[in-house]
Amino acid sequence: MLRLYNSLTRRVEEFRPSRSNRVKMYVCGPTVYDYSHVGHARTYISYDFLARLLRLHGYSLFYLMNITDVDDKIIQRAAERGMDPLEHAREFERYFMEDLRELKIGSINLFARASEHIDEIIAVIEELLRKGFAYVTETGVYFDTAAFGPYGELSGREPEELSVHRIEPDPTKKRPQDFALWKRRPVDELGWDSPWGYGRPGWHIEDTAIILTYFGPQLDIHGGAIELIFPHHEAERAQAEAYSGVSPFSRFWVHTGLLTVGGEKMSKSLGNIITIREVLRRFSAEDLRYFYAMSHYRSPVEFDWERLEVASRALEGVLNVFEELRRRDVADEDSEEDRTLVEQLRSHRDSFVSSLQDDLNTPEALASLHAATRTLSRYLESRDEISRTVLVEAEGFRSLVDGVLGVFPEDLGHRARLLEGVLDLLLDVRERLRREKKYEMADAIRSGLAMLGVSVEDTSRGPRWRLRASRG
Ligand SMILES: [Zn+2]
Repeated sequence: MLRLYNSLTRRVEEFRPSRSNRVKMYVCGPTVYDYSHVGHARTYISYDFLARLLRLHGYSLFYLMNITDVDDKIIQRAAERGMDPLEHAREFERYFMEDLRELKIGSINLFARASEHIDEIIAVIEELLRKGFAYVTETGVYFDTAAFGPYGELSGREPEELSVHRIEPDPTKKRPQDFALWKRRPVDELGWDSPWGYGRPGWHIEDTAIILTYFGPQLDIHGGAIELIFPHHEAERAQAEAYSGVSPFSRFWVHTGLLTVGGEKMSKSLGNIITIREVLRRFSAEDLRYFYAMSHYRSPVEFDWERLEVASRALEGVLNVFEELRRRDVADEDSEEDRTLVEQLRSHRDSFVSSLQDDLNTPEALASLHAATRTLSRYLESRDEISRTVLVEAEGFRSLVDGVLGVFPEDLGHRARLLEGVLDLLLDVRERLRREKKYEMADAIRSGLAMLGVSVEDTSRGPRWRLRASRG
C-alpha cells in the first residue's frame, strides 16, 4: 500500500486513485527561456521515481506535463536575440527534451504547450467571468480572490499574508492578491485575440486550462517544486474549483523540497546556477539520480560537487558487486549458506519496497540496497562459484532497484558483450607480456585503458577490469 504526503491535508495519506486503477498525474513543466538547472532536475527526477513506482504497483498512470512557452521572460530573451518568441521557446524546449532523455526520464506521457491551448484558456476565463469569479479592467481580466472562500488554504497562508506576494502592482485590480487571467498587450507583441482584446494569458491559467482539458475537473496527483505552492498552485486550485465546482481539484498535492547551492536558492543574480548539462559533462545521469535518491524528496538538498562525488562512489560500489556476480561461474547446487543468503536478500528487497511505499523514502530504500550489496560482497569474497538461486534473487533485486530509481547504466546488449570480450582479450595479452617480462608493453595497455575510463586491478584470481562510474 502506497502512502504519500498531501500538502493540502498536511499529512501522509494512503494513496488510492479515484477511479479503479487509473492515475492522473500532472507536474508543472518548464518555462522554456533558458537551459534547465539541477534544481529542475531534482523535481523531474523525483516525479520520475514516483511515476515508476506507481507503474510498478500496477497502476495505469497517465503523466501530463505542460510547457510554458508564453511568458515575459521568453519574450525578453527572444528580443535580446532578435528572434521570434515562439522560435526561441522551441529551441529551449528541444534542449529540455534532450536533458530529460539524458537523465533517463521517460515516464511522461504527454507534453502540452500553453500556446496550443489558447482557445481552452479563453473558454475557462469566460466561464469564470460568467460565474462571478473574475472581473474585467482596462488592463485585462483578473481572478477575484475574495469570491473564492478557501483561497490560501493549500499554502496555509493567512488572509493578510496573501497580499504580501504582489506580482503585478496594477492599480486597476480590486485587491493586491488578485491575479491576472488575461493581460492586454500591444498588437506588435506575441499575443492572441480574445473577447477582452488582444493579449496573452496569465501564467496560472495555462496549467488549469490544460489540466481541465485532459483530465476534467479532478486529478489524482498534482506535483511541482515547493516554491510553486504560492501563489501558483493556490491560484491553479482556485481557478479550477471555481470553474467546475468540484473539490478537491487535486486529491493529492505533492511538493519537492528546495535545492540550494552554497546555502542559497539558485538565481541568475547570485550567479550560482548549475545547469543539467554542466553536471552531465562530469557525472553520469545515474550518479545524479543516485545523488537525489540519497535525500528524501521533501527535504531541502544542498547541491555540491563533493557530495555528488560521494554519491558516484557509493553507486560504483553497488554496481561493482552486481557486475561481479554476472562474471562468476554458476553452480546449480545450493548449500545451507546459499539458502540463508537468499532469505536475507528477500528481506532486504521487502524493506526496499516498503520504504518506497512509505512516502517515497528513497534514502531508507538505499540503506536496504547497501545492506544487500554488503551481504553479497562478503559472499563473493568467500567463494569462486556462486549459486544459481542467489544469482536469480540478486538479478531480481537489481531490476527492481533499476525499475524505480534508474541507477544502473543501460545494458548495451550485443555491443557491450563484444566490448567485454575485447577487454578480456587485452588483459590476456597483457598477462602474457608480463610473464615474458615485457613490462613496458604491459603497462602501455594498462595506461591506455585507464585513459578510456577502464581501470585494471590485479587480484588473487587474476586481473579484473571495471568501468569507472563517473565521466572524466
Ligand atoms: Zn505550473
